[in-house]
Amino acid sequence: MISENIKRLNEKIEEICLKNGRIRSDLRLIAVSKTQTLDIIKQAYNAGLKDFGENKAQELRDKSESITGDFFWHFIGHLQSNKVKYVIKSAEFIHSVDSIKLADEINKKAESVSKIQNVLLEINTSSEASKFGLRNEKEIFETAQFCSQSKNLNLVGLMTMAPFTDDKSIIRNCFINLRKLKEKLNNSGFAIKELSMGMTNDYDIAIEEGSTMLRIGTAIFGERDYN
Ligand SMILES: *Cc1c(COP(=O)(O)O)cnc(C)c1O
Repeated sequence: MISENIKRLNEKIEEICLKNGRIRSDLRLIAVSKTQTLDIIKQAYNAGLKDFGENKAQELRDKSESITGDFFWHFIGHLQSNKVKYVIKSAEFIHSVDSIKLADEINKKAESVSKIQNVLLEINTSSEASKFGLRNEKEIFETAQFCSQSKNLNLVGLMTMAPFTDDKSIIRNCFINLRKLKEKLNNSGFAIKELSMGMTNDYDIAIEEGSTMLRIGTAIFGERDYN
């Protein structure tokens, strides 16, 4: 079932890429495996996925330590500074940097394990719905500046979540805002490549607007069971 979901999803992604002049290999499909068991994760891995996203620090640590293979782990949830220690060893990418304080802590912990940590800034592009993410442009530039001056951080991208709404124009605007912000940062000297945007309900729009990292759970694993 999971392998069929992945096959169908990959076909959809390819179709959208083709329609929009996007190159499939420019897009990374991250399977959002929060709440899913190791057994389920292995099924997705055996079906060809290597990128997995988790939104709880200890859950990422526990899963990444209990499973072997060629995995790329992504931390995509809100991260408190005191929990950086749980994700620093296994996270290939941390998508949710939303303060200088957090960036500073990630830099320190990365140094302590001798790694350069790939990070993305989480941006609140909707200003209403989601609580997390930077929204003030001055703050965004200062945080980006801090990351690029930090020896053990590699600022690779921007991440956003669109609000839950049926209004596709609102969702599209969020993604356009993120793309424009990336262009603005790059015009002032940054070299940001990744746009982490697009989930089960809006990945088509995200691809159209330039996403390079899709974070998809439900379309791969089915509805989540939080019990
Ligand atoms: C849960 C989650 C996703 C995936 O959501 P789906 O709708 O199941 O695809 C993506 N990004 C973040 C940050 C999440 O927490």
